[in-house]
Amino acid sequence: TTAKPDISREKSAELYEKAKTYFPGGVNSPVRAFKSVYGTPLFIQKGDGCHVWDADGNQFIDFCCSWGPLILGHNNAKVREKVVETIQNGMSFGAPTALENELAELILKNNKYIEKIRFVSSGTEAVMSAIRLARGYTKRDKILKFEGCYHGHSDSLLVKAGSGLVTFGETSSAGVPKSFADETIVVSLNDKEALQKAFKEFKDQIAAVIIEPIPANNGLLLQHKEYLQFLREICTANGTMLIFDEVISGFRVGFEGAAGYYQIQPDIITYGKIIGGGMPVGAYGASAQIMDHISPVGSVYQAGTLSGNPVAMGAGIAQITELLRMGFYRDLNNKAQEFAEAIQRFATARNYKLKVFSIGSIFWFAFTDKDIRTAEDIDPQSMEKFKKMHRELLNRGVYFGPSGYEVGFISSAHTKTDLEKAKRAIFDSLDVVFRS
Ligand code: PMP
Repeated sequence: TTAKPDISREKSAELYEKAKTYFPGGVNSPVRAFKSVYGTPLFIQKGDGCHVWDADGNQFIDFCCSWGPLILGHNNAKVREKVVETIQNGMSFGAPTALENELAELILKNNKYIEKIRFVSSGTEAVMSAIRLARGYTKRDKILKFEGCYHGHSDSLLVKAGSGLVTFGETSSAGVPKSFADETIVVSLNDKEALQKAFKEFKDQIAAVIIEPIPANNGLLLQHKEYLQFLREICTANGTMLIFDEVISGFRVGFEGAAGYYQIQPDIITYGKIIGGGMPVGAYGASAQIMDHISPVGSVYQAGTLSGNPVAMGAGIAQITELLRMGFYRDLNNKAQEFAEAIQRFATARNYKLKVFSIGSIFWFAFTDKDIRTAEDIDPQSMEKFKKMHRELLNRGVYFGPSGYEVGFISSAHTKTDLEKAKRAIFDSLDVVFRS
């Protein structure tokens, strides 16, 4: 197998040149700029089922799925029809609507890990609000996060580990005051000792421990259930709230997300992506007792002009209804697991240094032969291989998110035939990566 000639990116390149004059880096969210993969970013024109088409008319089987929300694939008829139906009545009122009740009921009746919910407009907003709730509830200021977990771009969370086992965080973005980062403690994943040390050093000061229970923003860093249980216990023992950031894992690995998957009850859970069916939505939920600390009943303030937006609620209702159908997750997860296993078998048979990590319908290719559980386990050099693979895949009609640190998503719209086709393209691309 040899490298394929590059697809045409003429129109995309033209659009990108224009976009660069309008937006910093030509984009409205950084990773879209294709900085860590080959070539100009593809401008997407439309999506249908598991396919997307770019401005040059190239067709791809899409494993990015808008970074996770599209669990039913692109342009799902039920979601689209509900959006069109809802929009006939206007787009926003800034007043309560029955649609909010309907989506909340679908979620709360089928998810025993939260009793009340609040809808916001993005994952970032959900997490920022959850942190404020935890601080307001515990009357403590510090939070603890893990290296390799992403929780959106709010100030307290744009913080990375400094040097040393337990450290105050260092800002990972210009514009975040050092004094904010000082309130965030950062430790490594999968390290009980570091956590114990942090709790000892900052006794009675930690409001919340926040984790992606299925860390999926820095590769897929699957944690042991036992470690997550340890988190639950150490938080309880210290009067600290445990926040599961399920913006990716929520409604993805199962209806009850990672909480249900591991059967661990966090104090607060954040959601996003899937509950909006592709519209801008986030949410956070907890027990009624905890949630009632939020304004207007409680003293923790949080608000939003477009919160619970009717059109977004409509999309969410239609999508969530589909997820509740018998066997939805079983079928999706089986299909995804077969896909991941087949690729792993192919790589192993050829002695390629590749590990396919997966859970539910999330997968990640790591160019390594090691077990990877922490951000520090990932060799940045290995990203060169991803970059090569990404180019080959695009040239063979398969679209992965443009970074080797990002996970892939399989939707219910990916048929067995599509997955077979994608597998062949992946096999050929891996041959090029490892043999040339
Ligand atoms: N938390 C997690 C776990 C996420 O994956 C993301 C986004 N990828 C966010 C928070 C932020 O969500 P948003 O991009 O909608 O603000």
